[in-house]
Amino acid sequence: MEKNPELRERILIIEDELPMRTVLCDCLERQGYRVLSAEEGERGLERALKDQPDLIVLDIMLPKLDGLALCAELRRLDHRMPILMLTAKGRLEDRVRGLDTGADDYLVKPFSRDELLARIRALLRRHGRAAQPIHTAELGPVKVDFDRQEASRQGAPLHLTAKELAMLRLMTEHAGEVISRDRFLDVVWGYAAFPTTRTVDRHVASLRAKIETDPEHPRFIQTVHTAGYRLLLGP
Ligand code: CA
Repeated sequence: MEKNPELRERILIIEDELPMRTVLCDCLERQGYRVLSAEEGERGLERALKDQPDLIVLDIMLPKLDGLALCAELRRLDHRMPILMLTAKGRLEDRVRGLDTGADDYLVKPFSRDELLARIRALLRRHGRAAQPIHTAELGPVKVDFDRQEASRQGAPLHLTAKELAMLRLMTEHAGEVISRDRFLDVVWGYAAFPTTRTVDRHVASLRAKIETDPEHPRFIQTVHTAGYRLLLGP
């Protein structure tokens, strides 16, 4: 059943009809995905921005903010996670508009479970999130080996904690992209713990002290005001 035990891509379902939402959640959870959900558009947009899922399954007809507007807003804010739109049968114009606003694919209700899963796999594959596990990173004089969980600075061992390594790995996998504090908490700390976003800031400070030449003016781990952190790799 556990198709992707380590990768555990996170999928956000935005759907107002409870039976459909339940079916989608169950079906995706059974495949090993981590499922988040929202029952209306505004909340869906909020979760998409905050939780930064790997993929969104988005219904078009939604209260408060419809799927087309939501999709357009995410793209306007430069969020590129794949979006699979669910459209009502026979509404060709919805499909066209969906793709025009930035959806990557669509599925017409009612759809088969197998087709839904196949399209999700294809989108995730195309987006490349799960495809290439990161093994190493180079940050100036610092080299990190994620497989061995080791780091060095100019050849000398550099101690990084498991949390620091996990944060660095997440940032390396998404180098150049902004990672929100909530995403760090979700991926690095998981659901079981109750740290706060301040925990993330403290760990970033400690990581900078270890890897940056001038931690006050970080070259690699950049703060993106109100949004989170971004890693810039380089020699
Ligand atoms: Ca609906």
